[in-house]
Amino acid sequence: MVSVHLEKVSKLFGTVRAVDNVSLDIKEGELFFLLGPSGCGKTTCLRIVAGFYEPDEGQLRFGTRMMNRVPPHLRNTGMVFQNYALWPHMTVFENVEYGLTLRKFSAAERRKKVMEALEIVRMTEHAHKSPNQLSGGQQQRVALARALVIEPEVLLLDEPLSNLDAKLRLEMRQEIKRIHKETHLTAIYVTHDQKEALSIADRMAVMNAGRVEQVGTPREVYRRPANRFVAEFIGETNFIPGKIGRISPMVARVETPVGPLLALRPAQTFHEGASVLCCIRPEALSFVAEHATVDNHVDAVIESVIYLGDQEQYQLHLDKAGDAEWSRVKVTVLNPGEPQRAPGQRVTLFLNPEDIAVLPATG
Ligand code: ATP
Repeated sequence: MVSVHLEKVSKLFGTVRAVDNVSLDIKEGELFFLLGPSGCGKTTCLRIVAGFYEPDEGQLRFGTRMMNRVPPHLRNTGMVFQNYALWPHMTVFENVEYGLTLRKFSAAERRKKVMEALEIVRMTEHAHKSPNQLSGGQQQRVALARALVIEPEVLLLDEPLSNLDAKLRLEMRQEIKRIHKETHLTAIYVTHDQKEALSIADRMAVMNAGRVEQVGTPREVYRRPANRFVAEFIGETNFIPGKIGRISPMVARVETPVGPLLALRPAQTFHEGASVLCCIRPEALSFVAEHATVDNHVDAVIESVIYLGDQEQYQLHLDKAGDAEWSRVKVTVLNPGEPQRAPGQRVTLFLNPEDIAVLPATG
């Protein structure tokens, strides 16, 4: 187990800064996610850690060891790819054994380690099969066993679940979490799937255009996004613009066109009058009986309702927002019962201060 550090790392392809001044400190034994849209540089970061690319600028360290110039086969990293990359002419056992043969382990040691790795991924009974006799999920388990068998210091996973169907993906998420817990490995996992990252990451870095926008736990990144990009990338959200009115030790008061909104004091420093966005998730808004005479209550008209079984999704127009582009908000009601509201109806919404994240208006 080792910590992994990127210090001001950049990687250029021609004039494209695929990775742009990225600094990350990944702790020993952490399941750390690199999350972001296609082309944001997450795979390039992973390849830098694996040693397939050398950084053009900055430093990569494993613990205190400088790794920039260490070739991939001397890094002791195990990699799992999206397409499994198993050898079709070898059995499951042989696929997993291969890395040990290269490392000159004896036959007895190889057998012991392969069976242990297959045990961890629950594939022992398929050891003699060829990869094409296995389902996608089983092939990915074998690919994991192959990465684990060499007892890597760092496990690297590059979109490992993207080739699986939705149900299997959910199942394998939990499997990866379990395997990570059992092995205590430092693992770096690349994905563009927010749910995957939210559901199993210890911490994650959200990337955009080669840069890291925010590092945090799933809860921090979802509930306290650092900026608009992160808020929009990690799920649905509503934005109400305003200006900081007053900040006390606990609370920020934001003057908005729909009235003053109290929010928990943001981590960032804003001065009075600063332009901000109040970010509120659809499930954090609730319908209330009273009218908008108290703080954090706003009047709205329901425009549409979609019933989805486990939830109801509303689109509403905020009364005082006119035709501003942010005038429509989404509200999600979980576990809806009998129909209670219909399009055209006037309602009042409550915006809980604890659920409002105050973000800079730009960026
Ligand atoms: P995806 O989810 O689509 O794999 P990503 O976030 O992993 O995307 P990267 O593959 O790291 O992104 O690519 C980052 C940028 O660098 C992109 O603009 C990409 O086109 C460019 N890039 C990546 N690899 C190379 C390469 N070998 N040669 C030239 N450009 C590259």
